[in-house]
Amino acid sequence: MHLYIHVPFCARRCSYCDFAIAVRRDVPSRRFVSAVLKEWRQWQGHPAWEESKDVGTVYFGGGTPSRLDPGGIAELLAGIGRERQVAAGAEVTLEANPDDVTPAAVAAWRVAGVNRISLGVQSFDPSVLRWMHRTHSADQVAPAVETIRAAGIEDVSLDLIFGLPASLGRDWERDLAQAFALAPDHLSLYGLTVEEHTPLGRWAERGEVTPVDEERYAEEFLAADRALALHGFEHYEVSSAARPGRRARHNSAYWRRAPFIGLGPSAHSGFGRTRRWNLRDWSAYERASAEGRSVVGGSEELAADAVELEEVYLGLRTSDGLALERLPPDMVAGWTAAGWARTTPGRIRLTAEGWLRLDALAASATA
Ligand code: SF4
Repeated sequence: MHLYIHVPFCARRCSYCDFAIAVRRDVPSRRFVSAVLKEWRQWQGHPAWEESKDVGTVYFGGGTPSRLDPGGIAELLAGIGRERQVAAGAEVTLEANPDDVTPAAVAAWRVAGVNRISLGVQSFDPSVLRWMHRTHSADQVAPAVETIRAAGIEDVSLDLIFGLPASLGRDWERDLAQAFALAPDHLSLYGLTVEEHTPLGRWAERGEVTPVDEERYAEEFLAADRALALHGFEHYEVSSAARPGRRARHNSAYWRRAPFIGLGPSAHSGFGRTRRWNLRDWSAYERASAEGRSVVGGSEELAADAVELEEVYLGLRTSDGLALERLPPDMVAGWTAAGWARTTPGRIRLTAEGWLRLDALAASATA
């Protein structure tokens, strides 16, 4: 079983972000921990555990988990361990923003059991960070990585965003070079999407910003793919790359369709054919928890065609690919001739060119 904990609190909303967050200057750590542990206790005895009894990975995502009191992370991990065996050597990841990384905080995370940090860097360009409404500055990133390593947490992942509007003049290859210079174990590279109801969505609607065109987006993605290979990284999933042996085990479990439980507001859970999700807003989640009502916002049972689409989509997004017999031979031939896929004995996997067309290819494979 894989466990995701959504910590929704952020200091302010980034210009592009439409995640389920709660902007708070003072984070209600104690109330959050108590509500999440209550939800965790309610999961015990649930049929979701039929497939697996132990916890294989824990992932604190957000929001900004590094804004939670470090003692809260310790309490959560202790509470998880009271109900279930956490596997020896389990990957325990915490997403952190560079400005929250202090020697005291990292030491506390490590003692609590965190052994992997995913750092939200996004760019090393100060004007881009200001445009994104990020709370950290570019020069906080290198000291943060150093502090994490000095405290004994070896496994460090950096998040970067590409595909920014051309008007920002962002030098993507320079940002990549700065990331490689910090010798991360893992990189997550996300293409910017313009979402409604975000400051960026409003700027685009008013014509104040022109989203990146397809050509530049593709150039940046392909440049990243080449740079990753040059630096010895394995581009093992459309948005993820790792040094050998450093693939993210938690995310890889999603892509293998392993069972997972999500705790906290808006968190999703999946096991067998069931998908269920929690109330999205922190206040609604907290109120339901305090009043003894369910925090579940909804659920569905996947039909056979939805399972097939999920399997194909998840297979194609990773470098492990799909069993060759899942696709008709003429489709395999067409994709490989176009340079979108490569075959190995019994398998087909997309190339970087293919990943640029992931949604369309997965849809055509299951049409
Ligand atoms: S820190 Fe992350 S979750 Fe919070 S507003 Fe920014 S992008 Fe969204």
